[in-house]
Amino acid sequence: MAADSNVTRLRPTRPCPICKKPSAQKFHPFCSARCADVDLNRWLSGTYVIAGRDKEDGEDENWGEEDSASAVPDPSED
Ligand SMILES: [Zn+2]
Repeated sequence: MAADSNVTRLRPTRPCPICKKPSAQKFHPFCSARCADVDLNRWLSGTYVIAGRDKEDGEDENWGEEDSASAVPDPSED
């Protein structure tokens, strides 16, 4: 056992590309499933809605896991 205990599986924790919090190995490169979903939604949004959409709206609903109100900057909160 412990054969891999000192192997660097991941590089020094990269920040989550979504909220900049330290990423979790389980959700790499994100910090949580929530951020992974956010990223996925961004991709889907970009796929389905090509034009006239350069800000995220309506994708960050209540996830039931809001541990940080400022996790995802949302300048358009109207
Ligand atoms: Zn995150």
